[in-house]
Parts: sequence; structure tokens; C-alpha cells
Amino acid sequence: MKQLLSADQISRRVAELGTQLAADYRGRPLTVVGVLSGSVVFLADLIRCIDVPHQIGFVEASSYRGRTTTGSELTVSVDRLPDLTGRDVLLIDDILDTGRTLASLKALLAARHPASLRTAVLLWKDGTQQVDFMADYHAFRIPNAFVVGYGLDYNNDYRHRPDIVILEPQDLPSIGLRPSRPD
Ligand code: 5GP
Ligand code: MG
Repeated sequence: MKQLLSADQISRRVAELGTQLAADYRGRPLTVVGVLSGSVVFLADLIRCIDVPHQIGFVEASSYRGRTTTGSELTVSVDRLPDLTGRDVLLIDDILDTGRTLASLKALLAARHPASLRTAVLLWKDGTQQVDFMADYHAFRIPNAFVVGYGLDYNNDYRHRPDIVILEPQDLPSIGLRPSRPD
């Protein structure tokens, strides 16, 4: 495993992003919506750095990727979403990879009549986007590698790590197969 971002680097950048968001949303009815489960650590740290009153909510999204195809199917649950009508919604996820998850979720939330709708990701993976979608905010741009820690998992493990590390083939021989996993 190779460390990509230390806990210190993450906390400094998350604080900076929170300050920017506070400035952008001051005086607005902000609701931060996190995508479960990958965004929980990021969301918990970020909202404490957004020094303006705001609400939070969650959507649950998991993508199943077959072992032999690159296609993915997204399952979404909106049971934990508060009323977003007239709110300034900021949708938060751990990582922007192909862009499919956030593009789909953004369309879903747009149907709930928010006053505005933007997206923020902790990590923006370089050069892997497959749909025409870009997050409005990102904390870090990273190379195309499989990363875990700070909320990001491999088969639901490693989320508790305070840093972000690259999982390499020697760490897990089957990593190249993009296994199915809960997000
Ligand atoms: P997208 O729909 O943009 O391809 O994928 C977004 C989701 O895929 C993320 O929310 C995350 O759960 C998962 N994902 C994509 N790349 C990585 C990665 O490098 N590490 C981990 N742990 N999950 C990833
Ligand atoms: Mg996820």
C-alpha cells in the first residue's frame, strides 16, 4: 500500500474547502446531501468547516459492477432525504470516477425542486470520466488508481483509515477485476 494523502493534508484541504463553501452559501438555505456510505467521513469533517447554518441529508447509492463487464447498475434509496424544495443543495460524494453515480443522483435530486444544485467530491480521478459530468467542487485531483481510506472502501473494509492509500495488485491479487461491492 502506498500513501497518497496523509490525514494532515486531507484535514487542511477539507478546512479550506469548507471556508470556500461557507462564503459561497452564506445567507442561503443550504442542505448538504451525502452519498452513503463512502461520503460519511468527508461529510462529517466538511460540515464542521462550513461555518454557516445548514441541514444535512443522505441518499444511498450502490453500483454493482460485473466481474467481466465495465457496465454498472446503480441502486438508489432516497428514504433519508429531507424536503429539498427551495433549498440550495450540495451533493457530496467520496470520489468522481466514471461520473455515472453523481450524474444520475444529480438528475434525481433536480426533480425535487431545489433552488440550486451543486456537487462536491473529495477526490476527482483523472481521466476516467465516461459521461459528460464535472463536480462543481473537489478537494483533490488524483491519478487513476484504486484508493481506500477516509470513507473509501474495498469490500467495505478500510473506510476507517484516516489517510488515503493506493491499493496495489500485490495488496489484493483480484483488484484488477473491479469486484462487486457496496459503495
Ligand atoms: P462513478 O459512478 O463515478 O464511476 O463511481 C463512483 C463510485 O465508485 C464512488 O462513489 C465509489 O464508491 C466507487 N469508486 C470509484 N473509484 C474508486 C476508488 O478508487 N476506490 C474506491 N474505494 N471506490 C471507488
Ligand atoms: Mg460511493
